[in-house]
This record gives sequence, structure tokens and C-alpha cells, in this order.
Amino acid sequence: MKLLLHACCGPCSLEPTRLLKAAGHDITIYYANSNIHPAEEYEHRLATLRAWAADAGFEVLEGPYDPATWEASAGRIGDAAIAEVEQARAEADAEGEREVEPGSPDDTASNRCKTVTDTEKEAFADASTPTAMTITADGCADEVAPDSRSMSVNDTNSEEASLANAPLSASSTSGAAPRAAVLSVDPARREARCRACYRLRLEETARVAAERGFEGIGTTLSVSPYQYTQVIREEVERAAAQAGVAPVFEDFRPYYDEATRESRELGMYRQNFCGCRISDLEAAAERAERKEQRAAAKAAERAAHADERAAEEAARAAHKAERAAYDKKQARKRAILKSLREQGK
Ligand code: SF4
Repeated sequence: MKLLLHACCGPCSLEPTRLLKAAGHDITIYYANSNIHPAEEYEHRLATLRAWAADAGFEVLEGPYDPATWEASAGRIGDAAIAEVEQARAEADAEGEREVEPGSPDDTASNRCKTVTDTEKEAFADASTPTAMTITADGCADEVAPDSRSMSVNDTNSEEASLANAPLSASSTSGAAPRAAVLSVDPARREARCRACYRLRLEETARVAAERGFEGIGTTLSVSPYQYTQVIREEVERAAAQAGVAPVFEDFRPYYDEATRESRELGMYRQNFCGCRISDLEAAAERAERKEQRAAAKAAERAAHADERAAEEAARAAHKAERAAYDKKQARKRAILKSLREQGK
């Protein structure tokens, strides 16, 4: 099949192109990723993809880079979710309450997140953004919650990256997004954001496929175990049906490890966040969290060893006291014997 394959980056393209080519597809790669922030990151990923594709013999077409459209759909949903968490925290602070655990009965943000918000409906319905989202009868988003913070065949070895380096609001179009809040966003909200993001890119891919005479569309996104695989499938099928081309969806997750190994071997640039500004914040916050956990584990280990050292010290002191008592007893014995010997003279 003459296939237009949406690609998010070079590393994620390695295995899907190999498998789809082996299945007989005639592949052209389509880089349509208005989600990627900042523009330098977008260019870096594209350059990496182009360099590899030139060697591998694949043509790469570039779609429009339109971050404003991403902001109007996925970005808007993401910001609204973060704002909810912040508002819930502010309310709790104002009431002088204890910090509310995400997901607890007191977590008003989570409770609100059970229902698709007006912001999400508007973002999905906005004529300038991907079209209407399927909303369940009770108005709820499905609860699919893979960890969505580091979603590509990426470099997760950058854990030492300091929290201080994480971009806060510099890239946000709607104000600050505190790092602490991004990790407390309800998974359903995160999924809604990512669905809008997939939709934008896949609708664009399907549109171009239909215009240029491709028979079908696919995407490399499903190689990552951190993405919402089922949502990707739905969005590929939806976009393809809309444009009148065939959907070619495959779950490439079993090939993720091989893609990681190969991309490292090829020395490819491997990003450490999915792509959007919010995922950058999430990844930085996760790294910071892991760093704190490691520091706490080290401190606990030191504390445990301190106890061991104190116990050893106490044992040494007890042994010394025992020895001193024994020496004293021996000295007393010697004194008595000496005295007896002197009396016998
Ligand atoms: S985390 Fe990834 S898929 Fe989700 S909105 Fe951001 S860039 Fe898109």
C-alpha cells in the first residue's frame, strides 16, 4: 500500500518502518508535529529523522508547524487540568486543611476530573482544532492511565537533570504551571490532552494523504509503551475514515527495546520528554521526584548504617568494660597470692 506514515521522531521510526516495509508497504514519512516545543526541539528531532531517513532510503515530508493550533486544542485542555489542581490546592490552603492526596475522597480536582469539562468540549469542538471528541453517555472520559510523561523512544538516562532546569512558564501561553501540580493532574485529563494532540497530527496526516494520493496512513507513535495505544488506534481509524483512506495501525510496543538499543547504537538524538511543553514539565518533575527518592533512600541507608555503627560502638564499650572487670579481678587475685606468699615466709 502507498502509505503516509506519521512519524514523531527518528528513534520511534526505526522499527515501524522496518516492519511496515517488510509487510510490503511503500512508505513516505510525514513529520507533522505541531505539539513539539520549543521550535529548536522540533528542528532537532526533524534533523535527526531526516539524517537517518536519507541513509535508510525513505522520503520525509514536513507538515506545517503550527504550535498555535496545538495550544488551542491540547494545550488548552492541559492548562485547564493543571489550573484545576492549583485551584483545589489553593482552596485547601485557604481553608487551612491538610494537603489533599490526589485521588482521595477530598481531592476535589480528581472528583471534578471524572467529567469532561467545558474546556475540553470547547477545545475539541473548536472549528480551528481537531473535531468533536467522543464523550461517553455520562459525560466522562475513559480512565486509561499509562504514565504519559516520557512517551517516545527517548533518553531516560538524564535523570540527574535538575529541577531547577525545568522550564516553568516561559513557554506557556497561559501562565505559570507549577511543577508540583503537573504530576497531580488526573490521568483522564492527561489522556484527553494526548487524544487532542494525536487527533491534530493524524487528521493533518490523513488530509495530506488524501490530497497526494496515498492509500493509507499509519503512525510511529504506537512504538512507545508510554503512549495511549488504544487512543492512538482510535484516532488513526477516525482520521483515516474522515479522509477516505485506509488506517494502518499496528501496536509496535514489543519492538520498543530494540528501537531503544538501535537508536543508541546509531548515536541518534534521543529526547527525554514526549514533545509538548507540558510533557517537558512532567518529565522534569518526574526526574526531580526520582532524585528526591534516591536522596531519601541514601539518607535512610546512612541512618541504618549509623545505627549499626552505634551498635558496634556499644559492643566494643561492653567488651572493654568486661575486660577491665576481668583485669581488676586478676589484679585482686595476684594481690591476695602475693599477700599469702609474704605471710608464709
Ligand atoms: S504528552 Fe505527548 S502526546 Fe500528550 S499532549 Fe504532550 S506531546 Fe502530545
